[in-house]
Amino acid sequence: MASEFDLIARYFTHAPRQAVLGVGDDAALIQPQPGMELAISTDMLVAGTHFFPDVDPARLGHKALAVNLSDLAAMGARPRWALLALAMPQADPEWLAGFSAGFLALAREFEVDLIGGDTTRGPLNIAVTILGEIEPGKALRRDAARAGDDVWVSGELGAAALALAHRRGELALSEAEASTCRDRLERPMPRVALGRALRGIANAAIDVSDGLLADLGHILAQSGLSAEIHLASLPAAPALAQRLAEPAARRALLAGGDDYELCFTAPPERAEAVLAAGRAAGVPVTRIGRIAPGAGLTVLDAAGQAVAIEERGFDHFAA
Ligand code: ADP
Ligand code: MG
Repeated sequence: MASEFDLIARYFTHAPRQAVLGVGDDAALIQPQPGMELAISTDMLVAGTHFFPDVDPARLGHKALAVNLSDLAAMGARPRWALLALAMPQADPEWLAGFSAGFLALAREFEVDLIGGDTTRGPLNIAVTILGEIEPGKALRRDAARAGDDVWVSGELGAAALALAHRRGELALSEAEASTCRDRLERPMPRVALGRALRGIANAAIDVSDGLLADLGHILAQSGLSAEIHLASLPAAPALAQRLAEPAARRALLAGGDDYELCFTAPPERAEAVLAAGRAAGVPVTRIGRIAPGAGLTVLDAAGQAVAIEERGFDHFAA
């Protein structure tokens, strides 16, 4: 059986393109661009909680990095370096080859260097740390929404949650729908280009990982503001749009996690600039509501009536 060091050398070592020293020493060395702030984030994926243990390893490698890239996208930062801490029950060469190929392909695509990590035996668990750069004062923070801002969301909502609901037998999708939704769940594409394009335009941003209501709720709580959003203007994934009468579908739209779209706020007079940023990034953006003083999040139906919301986003420790 290969040693831990053989594994690291074979699957996780590549010549760094933008680090002074990459994998192989006691620490990596990086040289940030002078004057830039570092944006740093960690996200952990636990087998059975964040993914099915039988998921395709290349997709898992992709997703482990994608969810971290998404956090930097939500700050408007440019991703540059990543670390990978991996616990696994055994060293399965086929699994490792797939996992590292998925991870490193996405890293290449976003010009991120894998510069270090840790590899240990244990229940399958993947923790990635990502580092990126942002001009001082330009980060898209959760606490920076302003009363009067429009609320926007990128892409489509609910496909990933629909894939989960389908797998759990809570609703039935056609084979084609199931495969499209499963791609969204297993291979999310982080909205890095959009986050970058929104610097200087958006006030606040967050990535939708735990569901729209929960994540927009974080912006509201940290900004000390309220919002109204319109159910009919939410960009529902096509498979969802047909089924909005079904509770599982509405839950997927409002509270489904794992979409990794961006939810952000911007002054109404910047609406044209927001649309241009979406075009430049190749991602549709949809205006879904408005920020106001006060507290709370109201969802309005087509008749302008408040919708009773029992849906909540995902919370690992909620009772
Ligand atoms: P140490 O004992 O000093 O912690 P390790 O033996 O854990 O060093 O790791 C050796 C080198 O390999 C280090 O540079 C570490 O950052 C890197 N490394 C370990 N595991 C991974 C991994 N899964 N992905 C990328 N780099 C890794
Ligand atoms: Mg170590």
